[in-house]
Amino acid sequence: MTPMAIAQLGEPVLRQPAQPVPDPRDPAIRTLWQRMLVTMEQAGGVGIAAPQVFEPLRLMIIASRPNARYPDAPQMDPVVLINPEIEHTGGESVSFVEGCLSVPGIRGRVWRPNEVTLRYLDTEGQPQRRTLSGFPARIFLHEFDHLEGRTFLDQVNSPDDLIAQSVWERQCQGA
Ligand SMILES: [Zn+2]
Repeated sequence: MTPMAIAQLGEPVLRQPAQPVPDPRDPAIRTLWQRMLVTMEQAGGVGIAAPQVFEPLRLMIIASRPNARYPDAPQMDPVVLINPEIEHTGGESVSFVEGCLSVPGIRGRVWRPNEVTLRYLDTEGQPQRRTLSGFPARIFLHEFDHLEGRTFLDQVNSPDDLIAQSVWERQCQGA
């Protein structure tokens, strides 16, 4: 399965609210998330949302695992979330320097709630409810923003919270 092109900042699809998936079991939807999974893994991401591959649909994958971009990420199996909804968020507000496959070269410090309870349909169309905390909660909220036509750039408090990838890497190595 070949990876898909990843929409980069400035593409209109990243600014448009995504539409619900009518039928999670549609073979075209299955092919879409399978290809998104390959695309995410090849790009070294820990999550991906359908608008990032030019499909304005409410579908995302979250897949926390340690890799070069996120060395301290916890390991979890990839989860495909279709038509996700936030039931509530909770916990402390915590900050983390996020990156995005659609925003090359720049990271930004973003404050988000540490816990989120969500509802979604799985790949069989079954309703699921789940509470995520820590890094997986952050990935979910980051990807959920993509479904609403937002990126992490909309969530930084100030331009001072933006940092070049190369500078971030240097600072991490120094830490
Ligand atoms: Zn992103």
